[in-house]
Amino acid sequence: MIVMNDQTCGWIKSLPPRTSIQTISKNQNCDWIIIGAGYTGLSAGRKLGNLHPNSKIILVDSQLAGEGASSRNSGYLVDTTLNDGFTSNKDLKAYKKKADIYKAGIESVKKFIKEYQVNCDWNECGKYFASSQIADQKTLENFSKTLKELNFDHKLVFENDLKKKLGTNFYKVALYTKGGILINPGKLARAMIDTLPKNVELFEKSHLNVWKKNNGSIECEFKNYKIISKKIIFCVNGFLNSLGIKKNYNFPLTLTASMTRSLTSNEYTDIGEPKEWGVLPVKPMGATVRFTKDKRILIRNTAEINKTFLMNNKILNERKKIHKFGIQKRFPNLPLGIIETTWSGVVCRSRNSSQLFEKIDDDIFVAGCYNGSGIGNGVLFGEQIALKASRENTKEISIIENRVKPTWLPPQPFLNIGIRSRLFYERFKAKSEI
Ligand SMILES: Cc1cc2nc3c(=O)[nH]c(=O)nc-3n(C[C@H](O)[C@H](O)[C@H](O)COP(=O)(O)OP(=O)(O)OC[C@H]3O[C@@H](n4cnc5c(N)ncnc54)[C@H](O)[C@@H]3O)c2cc1C
Repeated sequence: MIVMNDQTCGWIKSLPPRTSIQTISKNQNCDWIIIGAGYTGLSAGRKLGNLHPNSKIILVDSQLAGEGASSRNSGYLVDTTLNDGFTSNKDLKAYKKKADIYKAGIESVKKFIKEYQVNCDWNECGKYFASSQIADQKTLENFSKTLKELNFDHKLVFENDLKKKLGTNFYKVALYTKGGILINPGKLARAMIDTLPKNVELFEKSHLNVWKKNNGSIECEFKNYKIISKKIIFCVNGFLNSLGIKKNYNFPLTLTASMTRSLTSNEYTDIGEPKEWGVLPVKPMGATVRFTKDKRILIRNTAEINKTFLMNNKILNERKKIHKFGIQKRFPNLPLGIIETTWSGVVCRSRNSSQLFEKIDDDIFVAGCYNGSGIGNGVLFGEQIALKASRENTKEISIIENRVKPTWLPPQPFLNIGIRSRLFYERFKAKSEI
C-alpha cells in the first residue's frame, strides 16, 4: 500500500511515500499511551520502548506521524535565539538557562542521528540574525554582549559581505553565530518514525477526541474506539490547549511558509552562487529565510491565530502572496511564480517563552510549548519526559526544570484580543523585514 504524504509542504513532498500505516480499529488496553507523534512523541516513544521492553506502548497521531510542525518547520536547530517569539531575553542568568536547554537539545539530536546513522542534511553552517535596517545594529550589538559573556562565537557582518554570503543585497547588517545547525526537518521526523522500537505501536489518522481519568486509568476516546491506559503523555504541542492541557499557560499560533523550486544554474550564477545559509529576523515578526542545499528558497513570514488544524486554501493563497513579495524584495531578478509549495503549521507559545515539562496529575505527563524552537527541544523533552514518567532522574531533567515555568495567561476572549493586538503591533514594527 502506498500512503500519500502531504504534497503541499516542500519538505514532506520530497520524502518517499510511506508503505503502510495503521489506524485504531478496536478497543484496547495498554500500559502507556503517547498522544502526538511529532519530534516529542516519537522521542518519548523511542525512550519508553527501550526503558520498558515488556510494556504495551501506544503512540497515536491525528495525521500521518511527523506531518505536524515537526516536518513543516524551517529546519533551524538553534543554540541561541534573539527572539523566541516576542520576548528578547536580556537577563543573562535566564538566557544562560535557556541556552543550556538548547545545548542539551542539540546533543540529543546529535546522539540520535549518530546512533541510527540518519541523513537529515545536517549542516553546521551557523546562522545569521539579519536586518535590512542599519538601525538594528544597536539591537545586535546588545545581543553580542550577551553572547560574548556566554562564550558563543559570533561576529557582526555588513552589507557587502552579506551580499557575497547570501546572494542578496537586501540585508544591511547581521550578527552571524557559528553555532546553530541547518537540517531537513522532514528527514529527521521520518527517521524517528522508521526507528521506533518494535514494542511501540503507532496508530495514525487517529484523533483523540476526549480523555478522562477513571478509576486510576486514563480513558481515551477516538472516533469509534476507546483505549484505556495506565499512563499518558501528551505531546501535541500546538494542540495542548484544544485538549484542555495547561489551558491557561499556552496558546497556539499558526505560521505559514513557502518553498521555491530549485534555482536553475543561470539563476544560481546570477545571485553569486552562495552556499547553503539561514537567516533569522532581528524583529520577531520579520521573515525567516533559507537558501537550501538543493538551491531552493524557503520563506516564513506570517504568524496568526487560526482555529483549524490546517489553514484553508483561500487564506493560505493570501499568505502565499506575502511570501512571494518577501522573495521578490530579496531577489528582484528571480522570476515570479517560482514558489512550488505553501503550507501552514501550528506552534505552541507561552507568555514568557518558557516550555512545558511536567507531571500534571498522577500518571499524566506533558512536554511541549517550545515557542517556535522545537527541533532540539522536542527531541530532548520527549525522551526526558519518558524518563521522568518512569521515575528516573537525569542531568537533562535538572537543566530543563531549572528554568522558570510558563506564566499565567488571561482567559478568553481577553487572551485572543491581547494576542491579536500584539501581533498587529509587532508586524507593524517589522514591516520592512517581511
Ligand atoms: C512554519 C514553522 C517553522 C518553524 N521553524 C522552526 C525552526 O526553524 N526551528 C525550530 O527549532 N522549530 C521550528 N518550528 C517549531 C517546531 O516545528 C515545533 O516546535 C516542533 O515541531 C514541535 O514538535 P512536537 O512533536 O512537540 O509537535 P508537533 O510536530 O506539532 O506534533 C504534535 C502532533 O500531535 C498531533 N495531534 C494534535 N492533536 C491531536 C489529537 N487530539 N489526537 C492525536 N494527535 C494529535 C498532531 O497531528 C501533530 O502531529 C517551526 C514551526 C513551524 C510551524
